[in-house]
Amino acid sequence: MNKFWPVPEWISTYSYKQTPRSFGAKRASGRTHAGCDLYAPLDSPVLAITAGRVVESRDFYLGTFQVTIDHGALGVVRYGEISHDGIPKTGSVVEAGQQIGKIGNLGKGLHPMLHIEHFSGAATGAMTNPRNPPYSRRSDLQDCTKLLDSLLCLRDTSCK
Ligand SMILES: [Zn+2]
Repeated sequence: MNKFWPVPEWISTYSYKQTPRSFGAKRASGRTHAGCDLYAPLDSPVLAITAGRVVESRDFYLGTFQVTIDHGALGVVRYGEISHDGIPKTGSVVEAGQQIGKIGNLGKGLHPMLHIEHFSGAATGAMTNPRNPPYSRRSDLQDCTKLLDSLLCLRDTSCK
């Protein structure tokens, strides 16, 4: 299976001005951060980590968009906070490593990032409520590099 790091130009899981926002971190608002972030320059390409089918492609947060892809055995990944430019439509099939968007502009002085959520289980329809089965978030993952290593085994040689 061909596998790709989703943001080849990523800089960090830490913002230059914010505390790290790993999976499950509490926001200042009190809401739980339901994903993890890879910071990268604005307009950096965002790639599908493997082949899959687009479950949902729509607006997301602060004027950005999200693409949610069913990657089969690897589960479902939401790629959030990307720009609308070039994102695949709901229902379309993507190839491994296909560009599915660009890092979007959140405004408000926030550093651009890819917000990633991972759900185990198969995707059977529109993700209107990610808390319901078969979508379940993997809350044991603490940061993006751990999450991606566990999914992709690109760097962790013990991971098969
Ligand atoms: Zn995030």
